[in-house]
Amino acid sequence: MHAATAINSQVKTTCCYCGVGCGMLVETEQVSGKLRIKSVTGDPAHPANLGRLCSKGATLHLTAQTHVYEQTRAKHPEWRHSKDAARTRANWDQANELVASRFADIINEHGPNSVAFYVSGQILTEDYYVFNKLAKGLLGTNNIDTNSRLCMSSAVAGYKRSLGADAPPCNYEDIDRASVIFITGSNAAYAHPVLFRRIEAAKEKNPALKIIVVDPRRTDTAQAADLFLQILPGTDIALYHGMLHLMLWEGWLDQTYIDAHTEGFSDLKALVKNYPPKTVAQLCGISESELFEAARLFATSTATLSLYCQGLNQSTSGTAKNSALINLHLATRQIGKAGAGPFSLTGQPNAMGGREVGGLANQLAAHRDLGNPAHRREVADFWGVTDVAEAPGLTAIPMFEALRSGRLKAIWIVCTNPAQSLPDQTLVHQALEAAEFVVLQEAYTNTATAPYADVLLPATTWAEKEGTVTNSERRISRVNPVIAPLGESKNDWQICLDIARLIEKKLERPRRLKDSSLFNFTTAEEIWLEHRALTKGRDLDISGLSYEILDTQGPAQWPYPEGATEGQARLYEDGIFPTATGRAKFLTEDYRSTAEATSARYPIALTTGRLRDQWHGMSRTGTIARLFAHAPKPAIDLSAADAQRLDLHNDELVYVTSARGVQVLPVSITTSVRPSQAFVAMHWGSEYVAGHAGKSMSLGVNGLTSSARDPISEQPELKFSAVKVTKANLP
Ligand code: SF4
Repeated sequence: MHAATAINSQVKTTCCYCGVGCGMLVETEQVSGKLRIKSVTGDPAHPANLGRLCSKGATLHLTAQTHVYEQTRAKHPEWRHSKDAARTRANWDQANELVASRFADIINEHGPNSVAFYVSGQILTEDYYVFNKLAKGLLGTNNIDTNSRLCMSSAVAGYKRSLGADAPPCNYEDIDRASVIFITGSNAAYAHPVLFRRIEAAKEKNPALKIIVVDPRRTDTAQAADLFLQILPGTDIALYHGMLHLMLWEGWLDQTYIDAHTEGFSDLKALVKNYPPKTVAQLCGISESELFEAARLFATSTATLSLYCQGLNQSTSGTAKNSALINLHLATRQIGKAGAGPFSLTGQPNAMGGREVGGLANQLAAHRDLGNPAHRREVADFWGVTDVAEAPGLTAIPMFEALRSGRLKAIWIVCTNPAQSLPDQTLVHQALEAAEFVVLQEAYTNTATAPYADVLLPATTWAEKEGTVTNSERRISRVNPVIAPLGESKNDWQICLDIARLIEKKLERPRRLKDSSLFNFTTAEEIWLEHRALTKGRDLDISGLSYEILDTQGPAQWPYPEGATEGQARLYEDGIFPTATGRAKFLTEDYRSTAEATSARYPIALTTGRLRDQWHGMSRTGTIARLFAHAPKPAIDLSAADAQRLDLHNDELVYVTSARGVQVLPVSITTSVRPSQAFVAMHWGSEYVAGHAGKSMSLGVNGLTSSARDPISEQPELKFSAVKVTKANLP
């Protein structure tokens, strides 16, 4: 399925934006002898979207056609030999040799933990696999983490601790089978639009379906709710414990299921006695009747499906929030049956694939644990290396802290933009300035991280790549190339392999046990087959699946073991969980407040999130004029009460100041936030927000956010920063 066979034809591939993982049909045409993408349409045969596409997916072909696109794509390698110099064009041999030499020299002098990799949920499973093997296998460092740390690591930890495995038990069809949909910490209308349309369609078909939305903001998702709980920021755990308190009191629990399939309930029962309705309602800022109705609907429906996302995960209590929500499902047996279960939505298109290959600093391939000596030995033997290091690697934020302090010398950043997306941007920019050597593997040059790169390695992007991705419902889909790579750009896995083979020859203390290279792959499929072999016998076993099956029969869910004829739609229908005892665990963790509190100095709680029509740092969506129609410019959403108190009007510029920085933004007075709360979209970078004053203002909203993080998942608290808002007296 290569570009040459795609002339004037239709190619099936997968949308590269979000974790819904929509299938699409791409039509091509010949224009002046050049193969171009003519259109994209939703693939009616793909189970994730059934032919639907959202505004981002439906304009994806335009991102590959514009003049801006041609200007902003990285088309050939670039390098520089001193920090003061401008990068100049290099050829691939020169760039590869420089990266391999610098990485090998630094490792030879300072050891393997002096280098790190910061990768992305945008890359394909095959790309993720080889980078993980390079870091943990060849180099002997676990310093590989991903921008998915910012969006789903609390969900990973939540599933593992409560249910025994990082495996979402549900699928999208459960939306059509649910009686109650409990959307908590998710603005699905914007972040997962096609899924939200499926919810709307389910409601149209079945008006008895109840939709409950829990969110500090009155979002477009909340507009569709039968019951909307506008809780105060960060109070989710108190809400869930309060609901369980009521369920206990009212006798709405399934004691038979609790006794047969779970453990730890008595401790939780004792804890939630401390969450009576009046206390919880006050703490959460809702009424007791709203709390009661949420508990009643959740517990007594025939099938309750929870959908949750960053509102739970991006928190210093993110893991505990996930566990507290899963407690509700276990206690009411809203799990292991059609239309029910705790369903975490992944933000990026392949955050799930990264989890499968162990592409995080604390994971190993195929859901193996870094802390388990037997798992480390299995992987080391499989790869043919001396060992896999025991100590967890640096997760996203500590990675940049180590770079700033000099403990880490070199970083290889793959298809992500930390100089905009990580919290506490002052730290990140200082870290990138302090780094001895920065490699950036990217498809675009218009990112805030690009100026820091000592070497730029041009990567292919959507419509040029081949491999697989896994969406939120464990469904693996093929990604197929439609057009030839632009310029000299190469697939991410190819770039990794070329440099890995050079590094193999330069290491003074080789860890490889065999004579041949660890990276003797020539196609994406060969990489996938090695990944597949590592999954055999594991909870995500895909030993019965192949590229051919995916191409001929369509996308499939894991597990898909040898001999299977289809993937497994739902998990835990037999009530047996992959824990040591076979029972799911009730986790007993108290509500705790956010890391920062509002104060007299910083009286407003700022939260961040997505817009409907933009994606991440806007490298792609920012090149499409029509995608600005919905939200044409950055703004800070404030309540009318705050605007009046501060004597502010729509579009008036304000300083937004936190303990970490200051931004200048126009005001948007809205009913979506309560008094003393504010919202700024995450997408706007320096080119939109800067220009009013000094450098500290040119960091986007993450110049304000905090790097405080969950102690288990290490996910940062992007959903809460204490800020003050004052009139901007600009010249
Ligand atoms: Fe792409 Fe997500 Fe929109 Fe589907 S919902 S078209 S995967 S951005």
